[in-house]
Amino acid sequence: MRSLLTAGTLVLPDGVLSDPWLLIEDGVIHSFGTRGDGLPQHKEHHDLPDALLAPAMLDIHVHGAAGHDVMEGTAESVSHVTRFLASHGVGAFLPTTVTAPVDDILRALDGLATLIETPGSVEGATPLGIHLEGPFLSHAKRGVHPPELLQPPSIDLFDHFWQASRGHIRLMTVAPELPSALDLVRHATALGVRISLGHSDATAAEAQAGVAAGGVSATHTYNAMRGLDHREPGMLGAVLDDDSLYAEIIADGIHVQPIAIRVFWRSKGAARTILITDGMSATGMPNGRYRLGSFEVDVADGRATHGDVLAGSVLTMDRAVHNFAAFTGAPLATVARLATANPAALSGFAPSHGAIAAGRRADVIAFSPEGQLVATCIAGRFARVQ
Ligand SMILES: [Zn+2]
Repeated sequence: MRSLLTAGTLVLPDGVLSDPWLLIEDGVIHSFGTRGDGLPQHKEHHDLPDALLAPAMLDIHVHGAAGHDVMEGTAESVSHVTRFLASHGVGAFLPTTVTAPVDDILRALDGLATLIETPGSVEGATPLGIHLEGPFLSHAKRGVHPPELLQPPSIDLFDHFWQASRGHIRLMTVAPELPSALDLVRHATALGVRISLGHSDATAAEAQAGVAAGGVSATHTYNAMRGLDHREPGMLGAVLDDDSLYAEIIADGIHVQPIAIRVFWRSKGAARTILITDGMSATGMPNGRYRLGSFEVDVADGRATHGDVLAGSVLTMDRAVHNFAAFTGAPLATVARLATANPAALSGFAPSHGAIAAGRRADVIAFSPEGQLVATCIAGRFARVQ
């Protein structure tokens, strides 16, 4: 089966292609080109005039969706999450754990590792690796992570997690100012784990020490992080200042006010910004009470809280792209890379994800010129949105 997509523009890693066609055969990208060269033979044709074709997105920080938490760890429960993510343009993701009893984390890591190792175990978005968020976080900046379950950084405990995950932990959030944190950062980095600094009360100097030890990214910048004071710039100052550091941001307009998003954008720019959702099980569900890891969260009108603390989000990646473009005025093709090429580069999955290339799974999405998701094609399955 050969299906052809045609659109207004196609996003490439280093530019765009006008009047593109893209040929999909048996769920795989066969080839792409421009209309001027003529259209290849095909059975089925989806024309999306004016639309921007982009690779499907990669969310490196997502806890759940559609009533389920990834820590449930079974194919049945995680399938609800992966199908929902795919319907919002996400082709792959890093299922993200939260601070929980150690046994619960071990069980979740084992279950998620099995899903990662079993192609086809879930439909929709593909779990590529695990983001371990907690338990090595600061009490002062724990957000909703339960205080009694936070742990001091420990190579021994990390090694238990690493074994349970069978080497599939790809990203770990750590507060670098905690005792022994830098040893853990060096240890995990040597195993290929990307370190994201966050949930941290680090001073600027402590954050820089975290970078020197191996830190390569920052977790939900601004949120759960010491702010910028002009005499003690804090972790936030260090993150905005360091051109080498990737930085996640939650662009729902609730976690970070648009002016702060624009300041972030001027500092981190197109090469280092990573859009994430931090989405939890309530994403895509009506207002109510939901689970985030082992605790409960109330959701009302786009805001997820535990007591009076923001707890994850109900943002979707397509809305993140739309919002970020609206907040910053950045071109849509540029913003699309913040949700595709950049997270792929940080997480080490760029050889297989985050760009449109012949031979890869046909994970392609289309945005209207206004930044609305209008179609998804995940594993070659085409669907119009709305
Ligand atoms: Zn967090």
